[in-house]
Amino acid sequence: MKLDGIRIGISACLLGQNVRYDGGNKLDNILLSTIGPMVEWVPVCPEVELGLDTPREPLSLVESSAGLRMVVTNTGEDLTESMRAFARKRVSRLVREHLSGFVLKKDSPSCGLSEVKVYDGSGLSARTGQGLFAQALVRQFPELPIEDEERLADPAVRQSFMERVLAYHHK
Ligand code: SF4
Repeated sequence: MKLDGIRIGISACLLGQNVRYDGGNKLDNILLSTIGPMVEWVPVCPEVELGLDTPREPLSLVESSAGLRMVVTNTGEDLTESMRAFARKRVSRLVREHLSGFVLKKDSPSCGLSEVKVYDGSGLSARTGQGLFAQALVRQFPELPIEDEERLADPAVRQSFMERVLAYHHK
């Protein structure tokens, strides 16, 4: 049953849009069949909207002497400042979308909410990062209910998320 006026942002690849670096998607049938019928999705793909091609070279988060950087994995091209600037503007524009929640793609250097791999200079990684778009979203909307698709596969987490979405919508 559609809940009146509930709009939730979502990483576009989770809806089945072919926007990933490999030209594919990460269609999440659990999300679509459980939360999907109740809400209107508002898809965002930060990397494609930044102007990157599909398919494209994958990106990584790297810790350097200049701090956390987003780079093209194979070439080292640094996209940190352009992604940060884009994410700030894009998230600001989301105010007009009247979102009551957001579902982000786990592990992505752009969308990952937590535990994204961060590489050091020697190629080792630790799951300590947050995607740059996710970071901008959390900073500008600190009270917005946000989850990733892996956590939302758990029915209890899903129920709690939807309760928070409804409370946010009605506040
Ligand atoms: Fe685009 Fe985010 Fe999905 Fe990557 S994880 S393809 S940036 S929507």
